[in-house]
Amino acid sequence: MSADARRPLIAGNWKMHKTIAETRALLRELRAYPLPAGIDVVVAPPFTALVAASEELHGTAIGLGAQTMHEGEHGAYTGEISPLMLHEIGVRWVILGHSERRATCNESDAGVNRKVRSALAHGLTPIVAVGESEGEHRRGETHAIVVAQTRAAFANIEPDEVARCVVAYEPIWAIGTGLIDDPANANAVIAEIRASVAGLERARILYGGSMKGDNAAALMAQSDIDGGLIGGASLKAESFLAVIEAAAPRAGAT
Ligand code: PEP
Repeated sequence: MSADARRPLIAGNWKMHKTIAETRALLRELRAYPLPAGIDVVVAPPFTALVAASEELHGTAIGLGAQTMHEGEHGAYTGEISPLMLHEIGVRWVILGHSERRATCNESDAGVNRKVRSALAHGLTPIVAVGESEGEHRRGETHAIVVAQTRAAFANIEPDEVARCVVAYEPIWAIGTGLIDDPANANAVIAEIRASVAGLERARILYGGSMKGDNAAALMAQSDIDGGLIGGASLKAESFLAVIEAAAPRAGAT
């Protein structure tokens, strides 16, 4: 594995937050800050703010992501956005299979797989979210659930292509709750995810779920955690930069 293959990645999922004006203001703050070397930083604003975000990020090292996409290029899919449209405006990353979309938009494992293949075919890097519910966690089903979701997401994709993808392990009970998984436990789950599909040994696997400046260093010190998918803490420059700074010691360590 090249030293760079698992370069730390911190990605901000803004969810349904930020107008265009607010997007421009936050990105101006972020781009004024000298980011630590050796770390990739991505932000995923809502669709309406992506063009403005692309303008603000032009010439910076901060990558632009979308929060979902349709797998088709065009067609009669009211309300959907295609990978061609995203790529055209400078989007290079896309979050797929977030638990909120699995729960509220009926996204299935098979649908996530179609989107992952389409994203790869259109020059977008998928950030595939997997994770167990609170009940599944309590019943000890975590490993079975996340391994099944991961295998389904990457079904029939060549290992070299899988290696280009990112996975985010996000225990649903930790999202937006202020609770984080125990770092050693999260690391063990992520090691299982890594071992479940050929190619993931070279891919970046993130932790997500209430990751913030004060807990990110402990998570990022784990051997298999290559970064974070950050919700709430990505909405303000100060809290997002605190997570990015906590990832700095890991840069160059993999
Ligand atoms: C998320 O929803 O992807 C997430 C990690 O949210 P938060 O950081 O707010 O828990």
